[in-house]
Amino acid sequence: MELYAKKEECCGCGACADLCPAEAISMVRDTEGFFYPRIDSQACMDCGQCEKVCPVKNHGAECRERLYFGVQARDQYVREASSSGGMFPVLAADILRRNGVVYGAAWNERMEVVHREVRDMEELETVKKTKYVQSDLSGIYRRIREALKKDRWVLFCGTPCQAQALRLFLRKSYEKLITVDLVCYGAPSPGIWSDYVKYLERKHHGTMTDFSFRDKRNRDNGHARSYRIGDQEYAGSLYGDGYCQMYFTDFTVRPSCHQCEYCTTDRDSDFTIGDFWGIENVRPDLDDGMGTSMVIVHTERGRRIWETVKEALSWFPCGRTDVLQPRLTHPTRMSKGRRVFMTLYKVLPFSLFLTLFTKMTPVISLLRRGGK
Ligand SMILES: Cc1cc2nc3c(=O)[nH]c(=O)nc-3n(C[C@H](O)[C@H](O)[C@H](O)COP(=O)(O)OP(=O)(O)OC[C@H]3O[C@@H](n4cnc5c(N)ncnc54)[C@H](O)[C@@H]3O)c2cc1C
Ligand code: SF4
Ligand code: SF4
Ligand code: SF4
Repeated sequence: MELYAKKEECCGCGACADLCPAEAISMVRDTEGFFYPRIDSQACMDCGQCEKVCPVKNHGAECRERLYFGVQARDQYVREASSSGGMFPVLAADILRRNGVVYGAAWNERMEVVHREVRDMEELETVKKTKYVQSDLSGIYRRIREALKKDRWVLFCGTPCQAQALRLFLRKSYEKLITVDLVCYGAPSPGIWSDYVKYLERKHHGTMTDFSFRDKRNRDNGHARSYRIGDQEYAGSLYGDGYCQMYFTDFTVRPSCHQCEYCTTDRDSDFTIGDFWGIENVRPDLDDGMGTSMVIVHTERGRRIWETVKEALSWFPCGRTDVLQPRLTHPTRMSKGRRVFMTLYKVLPFSLFLTLFTKMTPVISLLRRGGK
């Protein structure tokens, strides 16, 4: 049995592996550094459950009235320590006050991105901020089901395909489950990220302990990046960073993301959150460079939570067209030179590959001609 015929048909959510009653599915890394499910045909019982949980095969949202907002956390520390306007930490704090649990993406000890469970405000720090690396959800779907069965409040935040995979995994709606999905540019390769971490560690002779893709030190809505190796901090422009250049030129995006069905405002999560692109046009008075979130409230449950959290936010209502940005209308296009890029990644030592990539910007621009 095969779960996908082409790589574009698997987003790597890992829900099939977590669900399989025979534990016949393992997630295996391919040569581009992405994880895909592999079925052990000896162990498989042919029950078909793995196909029912797949968010690539099972998408589509209910038609309903939605609310649109621009928001900024009132607490300046909360806003500074998040990527956009701080909507996620405000929602998460509300769930923790209800003695609930929060699931979000964190760095592990090897600087890989994994979803983890958070039970208090101290742990919440670990899941704040955008990590531009596909996160690993192994075991998380099962843990969320256990928490819900114990009647706990649960907040899950992740990409829209992960949030949909969770809903499919659970099979029924839980009143105490809040799903929050992100506006999503695409999932970058975890393998390329790990090679980049090793490269920086060799360069600076130490162990990396933190990396921020959205550092707000310049009050420019988080367009700096910074990282810590040993007791030194290194900071610079997001656009001057080799790894980020590869991502923003679309070479390291997962194949499925170029055909993503979730690049729309119509979703089934309770909330969608992202950067409020164009805030300088919609509300120039609020654009202070410290980030504004756009929020879509999709469900009745989401509206009830919104009423409890809005006191912690400066917010304004707006229309659908105000929050629109490319990733809410169509997926990121595949770069024309992606095949060449991935072939070079496979055959060259990573440091040479990275140097070539960063020095050859004009050639790369030529390869990418074709637009977004
Ligand atoms: C890969 C990726 C691409 C994105 N693309 C866009 C985009 O094109 N346009 C846009 O407006 N916004 C995009 N975002 C979302 C944006 O960067 C912020 O994460 C979002 O606005 C929330 O910010 P915040 O201030 O509310 O909270 P923050 O404190 O920044 O919270 C971030 C939340 O995102 C989750 N998260 C972080 N990294 C990952 C990850 N790798 N996988 C799954 N969940 C993760 C964390 O668990 C946390 O819940 C993207 C995020 C990611 C991870
Ligand atoms: S068909 Fe059933 S047993 Fe086989 S891999 Fe899928 S979920 Fe597992
Ligand atoms: S459930 Fe997720 S990991 Fe499994 S085949 Fe579908 S997209 Fe891929
Ligand atoms: S672009 Fe789509 S398929 Fe890719 S990670 Fe985001 S939601 Fe999933």
